[in-house]
Amino acid sequence: MALFSFDRCELCKEELFDEEFFCKACMEEIENHLMLERFEEEGYYVYSLFFYRGIIRDLIRSWKFYSSSYMIHPLSFLLEKFIIENNIYLEALSYIPMYRRKKLVRGFDPMEDLAKALAVKTGLEATNLLRRNRSTKPLYKMKAQERKKEIAGCFDVVASPRFKVVGILDDIYTTGATTREAARVLFEAGHQDFFFIVLAK
Ligand SMILES: [Zn+2]
Repeated sequence: MALFSFDRCELCKEELFDEEFFCKACMEEIENHLMLERFEEEGYYVYSLFFYRGIIRDLIRSWKFYSSSYMIHPLSFLLEKFIIENNIYLEALSYIPMYRRKKLVRGFDPMEDLAKALAVKTGLEATNLLRRNRSTKPLYKMKAQERKKEIAGCFDVVASPRFKVVGILDDIYTTGATTREAARVLFEAGHQDFFFIVLAK
């Protein structure tokens, strides 16, 4: 018997049989929070999977803030399902990165790990388009104007365009300040074929 097996539901710890990661009841609850949405911003699309509430909020919180890095397995499972079921065309996966020093403190960059895990699962190329060049404060308490100011100039583009369609992962979308700033620098560097996939909105 393997020491680590995923034979219990990630949420309620109920034993699993045929299911992967979540029992039937929890999967149903997860799907109740599905809010597949695609919206267009200035020249790019944003896909969003879930409402940021209930069970989904718990999942994301325990993953990011309590460093439950094993959460990338159920999350990449949900993302893969979303990409396949919605016929989303993409060739590579990138992510909105954390500031390097913050990653050292936390021990991992959740979005980086998720992008890599999803790339392995889907056979897509894992790439990294962006780097955060300074620490930014959490945006959730700020007003729209403050968010914009806080995040302005915080990303550098670290890869030149190769004309592949890249899906850029991020966790939570609120006012879109982060994706807007990332898109701005990407366009400036000549990138065109990208869109964002956010877990929750
Ligand atoms: Zn369950």
